[in-house]
Amino acid sequence: MSLVLHNLTKTYPNGVPALRGVTLTIPRGLYGLLGPNGAGKSTLMRTIATLQAPDAGRITFDGHDIFADAEAHRARLGYLPQDFGVYPGVSAFDLLEYVAVLKGLHDKAARRAQIEGLLVQTNLWEHRKRAVSGFSGGMRQRFGIAQALLGQPRLMVVDEPTAGLDPEERNRFHNLLSEIGEQVVVILSTHIVEDVRQLCPRMAILAGGRVLREGAPDALVDEL
Ligand code: ADP
Ligand code: ADP
Repeated sequence: MSLVLHNLTKTYPNGVPALRGVTLTIPRGLYGLLGPNGAGKSTLMRTIATLQAPDAGRITFDGHDIFADAEAHRARLGYLPQDFGVYPGVSAFDLLEYVAVLKGLHDKAARRAQIEGLLVQTNLWEHRKRAVSGFSGGMRQRFGIAQALLGQPRLMVVDEPTAGLDPEERNRFHNLLSEIGEQVVVILSTHIVEDVRQLCPRMAILAGGRVLREGAPDALVDEL
């Protein structure tokens, strides 16, 4: 199980080059994408989620070109964007149910069983009837993971998940990500060095739309 990025380039219409020849092989487990603001992380994440196309280059997951059948790709993708909107007043359970239906989980009993399992896994079971719009930052991020995990994806794209979380919430979130990383490919974008060092067996450093270094965090430690 691996995601292969081959020579991706992207320049926005305003002339800003965001990706300048990104080539990476991303195996199962947690993979850190570290870089300063403007490095191109979100652009890369949106591209992997097939929400935008690169100007050139290829992405394959398990050997399949993800843009050849983007719909099939999205069906097995879990995406937690940097900012995700929630509908005011809608409970966690109902919002998960809504997302599940959008993801094509049409069997009601199976869908509810999956939602209940995810609410337990993300420690949100006792809050399931509360509005997500009233959740704390940490609860909201855990909810984001629950919605991303609906449909049992094999690839997770998680963009800057721990910004603004207190240490206890960050820990909880780390444990949750580690658990998920045992099963699937998880790409974690962040500008927090400690997140990558604690969580990711492998990582890449991105800057100015290029991969500066790739490898195990300990081997790159001098540059971090
Ligand atoms: P990061 O997530 O690492 O902060 P981004 O992918 O958001 O990096 O941005 C990479 C570069 O592309 C930056 O210079 C940013 O200003 C620019 N950029 C990002 N999104 C857009 C957009 N929609 N239109 C124009 N420029 C953009
Ligand atoms: P229906 O079959 O018409 O959806 P239900 O009685 O099964 O009616 O569900 C009513 C509402 O309660 C739905 O919005 C559903 O999403 C929500 N719901 C169902 N099970 C749970 C649960 N275990 N916890 C919280 N909300 C739930």
